[in-house]
Amino acid sequence: MQILTLGNELLRQKALPVKAIGPEYLKIAEELVNALHEGDGIGLAGPQIGIMERIFAIHVAGDTARVFINPSIIETSQETCKFEEGCLSVPGVYTDVVRPEAVKIQAWNEKGRAFTMEASGIVARVIQHEYDHLEGILFIDRISELKKNRILAKIAAKSEKAAAKQQD
Ligand code: ZN
Repeated sequence: MQILTLGNELLRQKALPVKAIGPEYLKIAEELVNALHEGDGIGLAGPQIGIMERIFAIHVAGDTARVFINPSIIETSQETCKFEEGCLSVPGVYTDVVRPEAVKIQAWNEKGRAFTMEASGIVARVIQHEYDHLEGILFIDRISELKKNRILAKIAAKSEKAAAKQQD
């Protein structure tokens, strides 16, 4: 399973709501969780593997893998916190992002069962990061313009170097 990276148009598109959670979503969820494990990440959203639907999976250490379909974040804490984030679609980049400390989310799992979950700390963090992917938003959109430009310039320089190496 290939994980799409920065520059791919699909990462910038809004994912569509899932109309009905049929048995095929067991397989889609499994693919998502497998790709998440292969990439050694803690969260992965549909668009990152080219599935333009509102589905993401998270797997935080000490918990089981969880799948969220058609999620809505129904509450966020006023309290925010800063935490270093990375993304399988933006390899090699880690930067502090400020987000609400806690969230309440409503979603359906891969079996079509509705659930509501309150999360804080790392789980709240990864939920917000993955939810953003469904909106076409990346974590580097949530930092200062200056910092973002610096990161993009670094990525561009790196890929230029790689391209030059390939030509040699
Ligand atoms: Zn990500």
